[in-house]
Amino acid sequence: MNTTKQQPMNAGVIGDPVEHSLSPLLYTRWIKKTGIHARYDKIHATPQAFEKTVKKCFSSPLFMGMNVTLPHKRAALALSDKASEAAQKTGAANLLVRKGEALYAENTDIEGFLGPLLNKGAKRDWRDRKIVVVGAGGAARATLVALMQLDPSEIVIINRTNEKAAGLVKAFGSGVRAERWSVRNDVLEGVALLVNASAAGMRGMEPLDIKLDKINANALVYDLVYAPTNTNLLKRAKAQGLSTLGGLDMLIGQAMPSFKAFFGINAPADKAIKSALIKAEARMRQ
Ligand code: NAP
Repeated sequence: MNTTKQQPMNAGVIGDPVEHSLSPLLYTRWIKKTGIHARYDKIHATPQAFEKTVKKCFSSPLFMGMNVTLPHKRAALALSDKASEAAQKTGAANLLVRKGEALYAENTDIEGFLGPLLNKGAKRDWRDRKIVVVGAGGAARATLVALMQLDPSEIVIINRTNEKAAGLVKAFGSGVRAERWSVRNDVLEGVALLVNASAAGMRGMEPLDIKLDKINANALVYDLVYAPTNTNLLKRAKAQGLSTLGGLDMLIGQAMPSFKAFFGINAPADKAIKSALIKAEARMRQ
């Protein structure tokens, strides 16, 4: 009897932490809807164990690929044999798949980030507007690549560790500048879009320490954090009448091309996915 044929295809999300991830719920739902024989798991790996864990996963012929979450997105690109133009431009990958013999790195965070922004901000023109991005990790890099396509007047990066923000300015060049963390509240003056691409506000972490007093009254606050769905930053922004966007739409947007890359078929139409994720996240908090 050939037991290999009866084993499911495997995929997963690798991170540290990874407990908060809603990806297993999302993919498991799509796996059921499409009827494919597959499973999707959380894979915990510290930075020290990252390379070994990735290699072990891909040593199984049934392992189709992995989403990569914090803090491994730079390491994922470095470990790959080949990378898409998007991943190279970003300097980070959120997706690793097998392509022939090669480990292939992709970045679907860029389209995942842009889709909800262009939807929500359909009537807004980000050209010649000031945008502030908080964070300087993998998500911030994808955010910068996406935002540079929108021709804002300037993108200001602020990060708790100032040197990392300066590093991004070097990597991304003109149109992007860094300000020091100590002046983060003042930097919001005249801002049309504030993006939290840092891990601050995630479940188990402290809220983002930034005051919204100086931000434009018609600004949009986009928090990439999705667990919790209604972060402290979003609550404060809503309380002061600002438009807001949470991270769930981005999570769904970046997952659709990943699903195709893992299993070779399109993600199913699923209008109820967002409400299912909101409910699941609330249950995880109990
Ligand atoms: P990362 O590469 O590990 O970078 C983490 C960033 O967060 C660093 O810039 C770090 O600053 C900053 N940070 C951590 N704790 C902080 C705090 N208490 N106050 C201020 N800054 C803090 O992580 P990542 O991959 O960029 O992910 C960042 C966040 O984006 C995570 O919450 C992740 O879940 C979210 N994300 C969401 C989606 C989605 O689909 N919605 C997609 C991608 C990422 P230092 O440099 O000072 O350490």
